[in-house]
Amino acid sequence: MKTPLVEMDGDEMTRIIWAMIKEKLILPFVDLKTEYYDLGLLNRNATEDSVTAEAARAALRLGVAVKCATITPNKKRMEEYPQLTRLWPSPNGTIRSIMGGTIFRTPIVIDSIKPVVGTWKKPITIARHAYGDLYKAVELSTDCPGECTLLFQGDNGEEKTVSVQRVSGPAVWLAQHNLENSIRLFARACFRYALDTKQDLWFSAKDTISKQYDGCFRSVFEEEYENFRTLFEKENLRYFYTLIDDAVSRVMRSEGGFIWACKNYDGDVMSDMISSAFGSVAMMSSVLVTPDGKYEFEAAHGTVTRHYYRYLKGEKTSTNPVATIFAWSGALKKRGELDELPELTAFGTALEEACFAVLGEGKLTGDLASIASPDAGVTALTTEELIDAVAGQIKKRYNRK
Ligand code: NAP
Ligand code: MG
Repeated sequence: MKTPLVEMDGDEMTRIIWAMIKEKLILPFVDLKTEYYDLGLLNRNATEDSVTAEAARAALRLGVAVKCATITPNKKRMEEYPQLTRLWPSPNGTIRSIMGGTIFRTPIVIDSIKPVVGTWKKPITIARHAYGDLYKAVELSTDCPGECTLLFQGDNGEEKTVSVQRVSGPAVWLAQHNLENSIRLFARACFRYALDTKQDLWFSAKDTISKQYDGCFRSVFEEEYENFRTLFEKENLRYFYTLIDDAVSRVMRSEGGFIWACKNYDGDVMSDMISSAFGSVAMMSSVLVTPDGKYEFEAAHGTVTRHYYRYLKGEKTSTNPVATIFAWSGALKKRGELDELPELTAFGTALEEACFAVLGEGKLTGDLASIASPDAGVTALTTEELIDAVAGQIKKRYNRK
């Protein structure tokens, strides 16, 4: 390796899995270089959370990070960790606000887990816009008859006003916004990621109804596409816009294998639909991509608390490490690509192939064993057995004993 990866360690069961992955799947094969940041809750507390911001800045500086799942503390966690001086904010939120960018979530698909939708052959990646709309909206509820207006006051004195509605009784109101620049950066991230992963890009909104708001999303995507058109055509890739309801029906009839860019709320809902329909939350990978091409790879699931408490009692757990392994393989492949180290990229690919080989033999963790097709000849393994089996497959590929 030339440039180190930014390594962000985390909490609970995923922290245990993290250490196993490094020890058994990476260190024996890769001359690993990382800049290590411990984002475990206790270290975030000890550093007054400065470690999270430092890790995010390191990711911007070095370009590729890999992150373990972390606890976002709530009141209940205060009882569990009495030393906490504050309810520290979500590390993912902090990292996202420093790095910016778009999150792409992709299911990891295997033959023995059949998607609920029979036509889906390849994964569908959801790109969710992560700014504004409902998530930064203001609301109001009123009791008497009257009229609500929306007023914009420009700093230059310009004023624009529109009547929302005149009502004759109790009513509820909502105002939301988005920023043209945020939409533009989102569009660029989507076009770049489509080229990166060589997949078509779909974007959906409802501009027939929302002519200015969703119309702005549509036209910004169209404008930005002009900067990518030649590259798309060279790669034989397609970008198209369609209405959200049409997109839903096309997705259901598709074979998969494309990126579906969604507005914030649509992305929230559709990513849960896609991940559940593909099989398991434990098989969803996730990457944050900034507009200028910095990457943070992680698993989409959390720290799997219930399994951790069983682990602490000395019980064997069957926690699925695949999405966390794919966070590592994704980061190593990207580092290899950026630093022109084909062997490193090839190792990332070999790591993924090793996982597919093990899963393909029907060796699965409990979450998958329970939903696998009965004819798959399933053997349920513990976390460590599965990781050992993956290590065995990598050794085969590299002719090691
Ligand atoms: P979770 O850790 O994703 O686990 C929820 C349930 O999903 C588990 O109890 C387990 O079900 C199943 N599951 C998830 N991942 C699995 C895996 N790899 N293998 C097998 N089963 C898996 O979500 P949570 O319990 O809501 O959250 C726990 C902690 O994670 C919270 O403190 C939260 O703040 C944090 N979190 C972090 C991130 C992140 O860092 N990106 C994301 C989400 C949540 P069964 O128990 O039925 O087996
Ligand atoms: Mg959601």
